[in-house]
This record gives sequence, C-alpha cells and structure tokens, in this order.
Amino acid sequence: MIIGSHVSFKNDGLLGSVKETLSYGANTFMFYTGAPQNTVRKAIDKNTTLKAWELMEENDVDINNVICHAPYIINLANKAKLDAWQFSINFLKAEIKRCEELGVKYIVLHPGSAVSHTKEEGINNIIEALNEVIDENTNVTILLETMAGKGTELGSNIDELKTIIDNIIYQNKIGVCLDTCHLNDSGIEISSFDKYLELFESTIGLKKVGCIHVNDSLNPIGSHKDRHANIGFGTIGFDNLINAIYNEKLKDVPKILETPYIEEYPPYKFEIESIIEKKFNPTLKEDVQNYYKNF
Ligand code: FE
Ligand code: FE
Ligand code: ZN
Repeated sequence: MIIGSHVSFKNDGLLGSVKETLSYGANTFMFYTGAPQNTVRKAIDKNTTLKAWELMEENDVDINNVICHAPYIINLANKAKLDAWQFSINFLKAEIKRCEELGVKYIVLHPGSAVSHTKEEGINNIIEALNEVIDENTNVTILLETMAGKGTELGSNIDELKTIIDNIIYQNKIGVCLDTCHLNDSGIEISSFDKYLELFESTIGLKKVGCIHVNDSLNPIGSHKDRHANIGFGTIGFDNLINAIYNEKLKDVPKILETPYIEEYPPYKFEIESIIEKKFNPTLKEDVQNYYKNF
C-alpha cells in the first residue's frame, strides 16, 4: 500500500514534509507549496531539497509517488475577468516549475468553478487554459480531482472530466485524482466502488488514475457539500473505504489522507495504522490526543 497524508511544506520545504511523513509511518505524501488559499510562494531552496531527497532514499519514499496540490484559488473555468484567468494560468505554470525543481511528478488540480458561465463554457475555458499550461516540455502530470459539485464546481461527474481530458493535446500529461469524500458527495456509492471503477475504465480508463484522496464524509451521498471526516467516522464508513482503497486495480496508485485534525493534532499516524491493519480504531480521537499531548 502506497499511503500518506497531506503534510506541511512550511518548515524547511520538502525536507520538513519528508520528516512529517516519516513521523506518521507513511511512505508517500502530498503537500502545497504554500498556503492552499493564497498564492504567496517562497523560492525553492536547493540545499534542503537535496537533503529531502537523501532522507527519502534512506527511508524508501519514492519521489515518483509524491503529490503536489495546486492552491484552491486557481480557477481555470472562469474567464469573466480575463486578467484573473490569465493569473491562474501563469500561477499553475509557476507551480509546475516548482514541482520540476523538487522532482515531483504529479500535481492535483481542482478543475474549476463555472461561476457565471454555463457548464459548457466553463469546461471549454478549462480546456483552453490547460492547453496553454501544458506543452511538450512539461514534466509534471496534472491530475484533475473529482469534485463534490459544491456551488458551480465542475468535474463532479465522469463525463465532464472525460470531455476535458479528451481535449488535452498532450495526453500523457493529464490524469485524474479520485477523492472518496467528493465522490460520495457527488452521488457515487463508495459501497459499490467496483461499479464506479468499471464505468471509469470504460469512459476515461483506469490508467489515468494517478492519486486517490482517502476521506470519509460528514454528509450523505449526493449532498454536494465537501466536508471530510476521519476514516470510519463518516457516512461512507470504514469497511467501504477499505474495500475501495485495497482494490487490486488501484494497487500502485498513491493513497493520500486529507482527513481533519483532531483538536490541533494530526490523526494520520493512527489512521494509517488502522488502514494497514484493516481494523477500525474506535478510539482514534483519544489515541491521537494522548499521543501528541505527551509529545
Ligand atoms: Fe483537493
Ligand atoms: Fe481531495
Ligand atoms: Zn474536499
């Protein structure tokens, strides 16, 4: 199982991310190059990056399984303010450059929100933008995330994702990130995950799946809400999540937890443990608090 969580990039860049990953007993991770809500970014430090690569190698963390996540404020779908749309394009290009400097091969992107556009216009804007971002020299694959369908969010169904992907010129630089909470909230039964994968295989193709976000959901199927819950503490449930992420067809795909902190403490060490043991931990919250309180 290739599994990890989102981790911070704040302390020493990639080196801090790797140290945090190892503290969770994980073998991969996802990070934002800065705050997910804004576009303030520091230059990548070569020295700490080299140290991070060393530490990864010592601990069998494969850089090919590491995922970057683009900030939420990038919106390639909304062309109403042309300079804002162009800013999103340029920011994503810069973000890809940062990934290349770090040696990271995948970046997850929320496709975008149509806002005042029709869905069709929004999707066309995304296609146009992505074809401006990706060129023959791009070394990073953009993974479009399956969305919950909150507000005017695009990418909450397979057909929208397929339309975008089919129209990208450099086909080997585009893929998908499946988010179990978002799928649930968009109307997909995680209890019938095999059926969804069959549909995915026959439309987009499973080889396009580059990452899985493993989250339980606070809300019922089809709620279009997007609020993550700790593993086994939401409406999807532990067994359904385990069945989904242990699917043989997704064996080599990195699994990333984006579950909420418990108070101010990260739950990932204990959630990863329970996933690896395939055993629900009903005392997760107490365990996390006890562990970090005495740190
Ligand atoms: Fe996301
Ligand atoms: Fe996600
Ligand atoms: Zn989400």
